[in-house]
Amino acid sequence: MTSSVRISLPNGIQYTQPTCLFIDNKWVPGDSDTFSVLNPASEDEIVTIQGASSTNVDQAVIAARRAFEGVWSEIAASERGAFLYKIAELIKRDRELIASIDALDNGKPYTAALNIDLDEAWNVFRYYAGAADKITGQTIETSPAKLAYVMQEPLGVCGQIIPWNYPFMMLAWKVAPALACGNTVVLKPAEQTPLSALYFCELVLEAGLPAGVVNVLPGIGSITGSALALHEDVDKIAFTGSTPTGREIMKAAASNLKNITLECGGKSPSVVFEDADLEQAVKWCHSGIMDNQGQICTSTSRIYVHESVYDDFLTRFVDVTKKHDKIGDQFSEGIYQGAQISDIQQQRILSFIEAGKKDGARLLYGGTRHGQKGYFIKPTIFADTTESMKIVREEIFGPVVAISKFSTQGEVIRKCNDSPYGLAAALFTENVRRAHIVARKLQAGMVWINSSGDSHYGIPFGGYKSSGIGRELGQYALDAYTQSKAVHVNLDSAS
Ligand code: NAP
Ligand code: MG
Repeated sequence: MTSSVRISLPNGIQYTQPTCLFIDNKWVPGDSDTFSVLNPASEDEIVTIQGASSTNVDQAVIAARRAFEGVWSEIAASERGAFLYKIAELIKRDRELIASIDALDNGKPYTAALNIDLDEAWNVFRYYAGAADKITGQTIETSPAKLAYVMQEPLGVCGQIIPWNYPFMMLAWKVAPALACGNTVVLKPAEQTPLSALYFCELVLEAGLPAGVVNVLPGIGSITGSALALHEDVDKIAFTGSTPTGREIMKAAASNLKNITLECGGKSPSVVFEDADLEQAVKWCHSGIMDNQGQICTSTSRIYVHESVYDDFLTRFVDVTKKHDKIGDQFSEGIYQGAQISDIQQQRILSFIEAGKKDGARLLYGGTRHGQKGYFIKPTIFADTTESMKIVREEIFGPVVAISKFSTQGEVIRKCNDSPYGLAAALFTENVRRAHIVARKLQAGMVWINSSGDSHYGIPFGGYKSSGIGRELGQYALDAYTQSKAVHVNLDSAS
């Protein structure tokens, strides 16, 4: 079986795509079934990828353990930082290629992959390159004759399981902080989008990372992902994906009480108060749900608009949606929206749309697939939705929004918080006091005032309630990838 394939991308870029597993700095065959990776815009197969079995997971964990104990946790932190910086520079060099790869198997517009995903990935590696030698603990004088100091030590071998919506960016969010802290990693990309993670391994080799520090295992969640989550010699699982899978991973991680970080689903609200700058609110509410084909865990998929500006908001929201209704192949010029990730997701989103119609929501725009080929969905707007509707309660993960009106601040806060999720929330008002009071009352890990969708590599990212456990990015990720050791020192020889 071949371990790589030459690919010519629609934008003229050519490259060699690895198609097998990366363990201990070597390309190795997978023992599990192969699987197809498709272009979601054409439904054509791009390539067949080898899947990792539980035996392959064992091999990768052994390599990662050896690299952790003998090498990576032993070298100077500044040297780890230098390796991460080398990777950052290679990402910068190859940003057009990697953005093309992500566009190809994800379906997202190439320009979005380039300007959002790749810039973020580069920044994340640079940020943690700089952070590697700035991980500090505390020193505390516990009595006149005693002191204690606290060291932040790496956890060990980290299993990392990522989704398909931001393939390379999610890799960066996971791999960079883990390595900066002195851990080694075994990463499983999503089965739909393993291509950029495998290409990343070429950069790992080029940067000269020691063998076993980064291992990448393409495979199926129920086989590769599950074996990783259950593995007794894995110290942490960091996961991004759906809440039901997050729950499974939490159960599996119980085997040896692994440290876990879970970034799961959401049903994030936007609130538009009567004094909001309506043009700005419409713009942000639109991008908050429609960017990335609606496939963002923080998508603001429920919008609550004050009754006095409701009709005006709806008219403007439909106008902005029409202007952005430029759907097409990920490499064509001027598109705003690409294909959804898969046939399954397209069908799932269409079934939510049917539920919205059946439940009596008012369909203002879209409501169908787009075209005959490819997993496209028209941007879809439902108005006059009510709290019990399925489209208001469940994560759709597509370009479908549920809009309704409210009368009072207390009522809208109650509605926002009436959800098992608590990932993000947006609010729009010109009243500074109200903005901060409402921000405080919303049960969400991230709140946006007069914007939506913002994240930054220096700022913690994560959710309340069933949206997850722990935080990624910023200094918080350094906590998530280390454990503290307290050393008590007795200075008094007489006691
Ligand atoms: P998913 O099941 O949560 O997949 C995320 C990752 O977990 C993938 O790498 C997946 O592998 C892996 N996985 C699946 N089952 C596993 C298991 N039992 N043990 C360990 N790892 C496992 O998400 P999905 O199936 O792609 O999408 C389903 C729904 O999840 C979507 O409709 C959407 O609502 C939500 N979703 C949310 C996010 C987010 O960022 N919040 C991202 C993606 C999807 P495979 O790729 O092989 O399945
Ligand atoms: Mg899945």
